[in-house]
Amino acid sequence: MSTGFFWDERCFWHSGGNYAGTAPVGGLVQPLAAGGLPENPETKRRLRNILDVTGLARALEMSSADPAPRDALLRVHPATYLDAFKAASDAGGGELGLRAPFGPGGYEIAALSAGLSVAALRAVLRGDLRNAYALSRPPGHHCTADFPNGFCLFNNIAVAIHAARAEGLARRVAVLDWDVHHGNGTEAIFADDPDVLTISIHQERNYPLETGDFEDRGSGAGLGANLNIPLPPGTGHAGYLMAMDRLVAPAIRAHAPEVIVVACGYDAGPLDPLGRMLATAETFAAMTDRVMALADDLCAGRLMMAHEGGYSEVYVPFSGHAVLARMAGSGIDAPDPLGDTFARRQPGADHDAMVAARIDAMAQALGV
Ligand SMILES: [Zn+2]
Repeated sequence: MSTGFFWDERCFWHSGGNYAGTAPVGGLVQPLAAGGLPENPETKRRLRNILDVTGLARALEMSSADPAPRDALLRVHPATYLDAFKAASDAGGGELGLRAPFGPGGYEIAALSAGLSVAALRAVLRGDLRNAYALSRPPGHHCTADFPNGFCLFNNIAVAIHAARAEGLARRVAVLDWDVHHGNGTEAIFADDPDVLTISIHQERNYPLETGDFEDRGSGAGLGANLNIPLPPGTGHAGYLMAMDRLVAPAIRAHAPEVIVVACGYDAGPLDPLGRMLATAETFAAMTDRVMALADDLCAGRLMMAHEGGYSEVYVPFSGHAVLARMAGSGIDAPDPLGDTFARRQPGADHDAMVAARIDAMAQALGV
């Protein structure tokens, strides 16, 4: 069985508003000569492109998908939000939440982005693919049921999980979010749900500023089915792998999911403008190895990854290529042109020890 790669050129046509980085243009904020929002098509298109250049694309089952239909979106998002989004999109674009602008046709593109995740998860659960990757854009993990934010307009992963449930394909799911930002939307949507374990490894107090604390473990029947792993700025390869081994793996094992879903952001990379972490392409490959091993042990290898953030146009393609080569079991490599530099720029022993102490404290609190 093969690895699926779900993408669509139209997702690269999603356009944001008039921003310079994450600051709206106006007042003293001078427009940028090129670009605008960090969430621009290039990081994603360049990942798609490098797959062609190395030939890894030929080892993947490439396809698009139908947009998520309204009834699928309604399982996560209220009709009031869908209607407001559609009306603003039809009127030429706008912004309804916080830092989640969209242009003309933004509603349809966001529904297509969610549809890519729906199709990827469905194909894995039906056994049509060994595992699958959805190059969903706009991303999804910040979007709550009714509050689009952080470039996210629909929660792609939540829509996909609810669609899979409605089709009777799965009930228990583990979501691992290694985007550098907190997966606040996914956490909120599944907070009360004991069957969906949500885990987020993120840079503490980055975005959103108010969420992502270790103490937030879910609510009601879902208490205990949320795990936040906030890490300090400057955490690198060793810290990420320690978090995976000491905290993520035991949590996912205890949950016994039928499928593992990864909210796969690359903004924990060293060049990212919206993060201050030091995870390299090698780190993402090693985390992929670990999550694949867990999936093999627990759920017949069933794994779906949905692309989230990652804003270094230069570096995201190398991290993404490393992940996809691992998922496909391919020896095709895209050698990291900055790997040697970043290996020498890892945190020092003091920083690693500080991260290790924090992870130890979290493990003790969890009793793992
Ligand atoms: Zn992010």
